[in-house]
Amino acid sequence: MMKKTFRNQHRMLESFGYEFLVTCPSCNHYSKVISLGDPSPYVPRTSIRFVCTNCGMSKELKTKSNGYNQSIISYGSQWKDGVVNIGGSYDWYFGYSLYLQTPCCAHTLWAYNREHLTYLKRYVEAELRESHPYYLSVESRLPAWIKSSKNREAVLQAIEKLENKFA
Ligand SMILES: [Zn+2]
Repeated sequence: MMKKTFRNQHRMLESFGYEFLVTCPSCNHYSKVISLGDPSPYVPRTSIRFVCTNCGMSKELKTKSNGYNQSIISYGSQWKDGVVNIGGSYDWYFGYSLYLQTPCCAHTLWAYNREHLTYLKRYVEAELRESHPYYLSVESRLPAWIKSSKNREAVLQAIEKLENKFA
């Protein structure tokens, strides 16, 4: 049987931030946070919009500059107000809960949008991986529990569960 291989595409987590599927804080329906300008989180003074087509709630903000013409970024899972927060199970700008998230292996598996979910799936499905991922790519930054081969089945099931949210 042919083994599936995953070719690194050198995709950074940041490259999936053009669209966040989130849970509307007002009605719990699935909704979106999108960038109206440059989708890069590093570009300041970009307009970001939240809109829920179910209840009509909408919100807009402009990202701030750090004085060096870059956005102020915070990495990790601790939310900080007024800055761009990358790395938790919420959108970077408003901090709304991601729609695509589910408990898995005592952690939370999450994805920003459908393309991100597909990317994770391809990674986890692969039985052989390139041994030296680009150090900033999504796969190199993935937590160990997702990369662990013993969790592969459980992670794939969780991904499938999230895929079914589109059905
Ligand atoms: Zn709503």
